[in-house]
Amino acid sequence: MLGMMMDQPLLISSLIEHAARFHGDTEIVSREADRSIFRYTYAEAAARAKQIAKAIARLGAEPSDRIGTLAWNSHRHFELYYGISGTARILHTINPRLFPEQLRYIINHAADRILFLEPSFVGLVEKLAPALTTVRHYVIMAPRALMPPTSLPDALCYEELIEAETPELDWPIIDEQTASSLCYTSGTTGNPKGALYSHRSTVLHAFGSCAADMLGVSAADCVLPVVPMFHVNAWGIPYSSALAGAKLVLPGQHLDGESLCTLFDQERVTLSLGVPTVWLGALKYAEETGKGFSTVKRIVIGGSAAPPSMIEAFDKKHGVHAVHAWGMTEMSPLGTVAASKAKHATAAPDVITHVRCSQGRPSFMVDLKITDAEGRRLPHDGVAVGNLHVRGPWVVRGYYNDAEASAEAFDAEGWFKTGDVCAIDPDGYVRITDRSKDVIKSGGEWISSIDLENAAVGHPDVAEAAVIGLPHPRWDERPLLIVVPKPDHVVDKPAIMSFLADKVAKWWLPDDIVVVDQLPHTATGKLLKTQLRKDFADYKLPTA
Ligand code: ADP
Repeated sequence: MLGMMMDQPLLISSLIEHAARFHGDTEIVSREADRSIFRYTYAEAAARAKQIAKAIARLGAEPSDRIGTLAWNSHRHFELYYGISGTARILHTINPRLFPEQLRYIINHAADRILFLEPSFVGLVEKLAPALTTVRHYVIMAPRALMPPTSLPDALCYEELIEAETPELDWPIIDEQTASSLCYTSGTTGNPKGALYSHRSTVLHAFGSCAADMLGVSAADCVLPVVPMFHVNAWGIPYSSALAGAKLVLPGQHLDGESLCTLFDQERVTLSLGVPTVWLGALKYAEETGKGFSTVKRIVIGGSAAPPSMIEAFDKKHGVHAVHAWGMTEMSPLGTVAASKAKHATAAPDVITHVRCSQGRPSFMVDLKITDAEGRRLPHDGVAVGNLHVRGPWVVRGYYNDAEASAEAFDAEGWFKTGDVCAIDPDGYVRITDRSKDVIKSGGEWISSIDLENAAVGHPDVAEAAVIGLPHPRWDERPLLIVVPKPDHVVDKPAIMSFLADKVAKWWLPDDIVVVDQLPHTATGKLLKTQLRKDFADYKLPTA
């Protein structure tokens, strides 16, 4: 017997419709390239999303066509999120920080038909354009007065497209399994791979992320996503904010500590999200000026491991609850969030630290398992470390038009192989120790590069740290610690060694420490260990 409930598909257009109807006067604030502030409401954004949807149809884009965007977190980008997906076209957000060769590959691989770009990317796209085989129209996201001179063929003006349309449109009712948006992983090796989300997966992810123990977005919040809308949909914030009716602040391209902290204070931001490198800058500015976190209640840190020293700095120095989270492009991206349980109210401080500094426990609907090298399940006892596999309704079941990558990505039971290595404790808290390719294998045992890096950045002279394994005749591999000093600090290697001595097992201690001015990062702000391994390929450890 079937239940007698209405059959209403889960559609992205419902999110903006809900926000426009019940949070119509809630603000969306966007900082423009010239740092001026643009301000409007969900009702106005929804109307303009319909106008741009109609303009896209007029330009000849059919349902299922991919429409690319090269844009910052801005109000026009927000309109495209809904205008493109709402009418069954596919929003392809492109990370402008990728190498030109990767950009050319993904735009052609996605076969983008229209490319929307902000003025700051005109130079980049002009160089790519001759090699882009499928793009029919370039639209520059600006009013006529701010259109830059360009050699792009027949470049169109975003605001003129909007002006030519009325906001009357009924969003089509489509199958909830319809593809809605496409994100490519940065792919530090090989070609980038496309995760193709659906309306259903996106709406379920938005529901999941609004849960109190996940991101907990609510209508009482003012949310500022620092994580870019070109990287895994800014962790879904453009959707979850509309679902919840939260005020949304889009910071544009200026993401340094001062720019962010100023916006936090001015707009009374309560919740912000970003990768650890972003928070380094904001914390430094806040420490120097005392500004920046007056209204902020929660900061979500993910994308790379959040060092315990960073979580502590937010808590103790700024009274901000730092929340550690883990996920990936293939998971839309939310997998786990480090929220405590009722029993932790009376737990000992070291238990609380363990919970808060872990990558967290899974969201409802995200299932986890760890396996050994032969694919056998390992216990969730907090000790066994293995390969992390996941499944759930917002996890990919293949890569877009990439049979080879799809064939490799899943185990025999159909779970997605994350490529991360971790332990899971009996309460479900995950502790990521490494990417499997970054694990340091020493004397048959594994050393966690993440644990060593976290310990090193706890030292007051160290701004950033990376650990890589170098070949060793006796132990196979041994760790090399590479550190960047804080400005005006000098790193004393023996002092770092003795600092680490009571924080990690003795045989984990690095065989050497190298001081550098900066570390290489990927397009999404993670340590680029492939580059470090190349840079230090000829380095001889003193113990080797
Ligand atoms: P890319 O940077 O390749 O586009 P993602 O942003 O999807 O990919 O990165 C996902 C990966 O980032 C995860 O598999 C994991 O290795 C790493 N990661 C994300 N969050 C955390 C975290 N909190 N701690 C440690 N690693 C993390």
